[in-house]
Amino acid sequence: MTLFDELLEANARYAQTFPGTDLTVMPARHIVILTCMDARIEVVDAFGLAVGDAHILRNAGGRVTDDVIRSLLISSDIVGTRHVAVIHHTQCGLRDTTNEQLQQHIQDEREIDAAAIDFRPFQDTDESVREDIALLESSPLLRKDIDYAGFVYDVANGRMRSVAPPE
Ligand code: ZN
Repeated sequence: MTLFDELLEANARYAQTFPGTDLTVMPARHIVILTCMDARIEVVDAFGLAVGDAHILRNAGGRVTDDVIRSLLISSDIVGTRHVAVIHHTQCGLRDTTNEQLQQHIQDEREIDAAAIDFRPFQDTDESVREDIALLESSPLLRKDIDYAGFVYDVANGRMRSVAPPE
């Protein structure tokens, strides 16, 4: 059985007791969580959320990218969310590395040109959160009535602390 078969099988079991839902497309708590794809972060449990509560955007580092802006435009202007939490974390794979190292690593593995890719690595986790919030706040595309807050989640003990309180 392949990993994908295992997913299908697990889903079949899940669907047998699926309670159905009257949730709508609007997240019940009108919030967006932007965080890293790191497998150690269980977003719903760690932050007291339930299915239907939040839009969850994940990528390498939980960093603001063009696609995050795209999703936030849909989330805020089309769906109506008004709060964004940016959550980076300890032991992140993007910390203490550089674009040059990441580009070189990929180019050494495979003969492709990765030189133009900005992987958004960082050296200071608190600072990377604040930097991403500043990017969102200054985006000419995003509406100005969104509340932003920033946090760092510790994958070793499950605790989260505030590094960018809402204004
Ligand atoms: Zn990470």
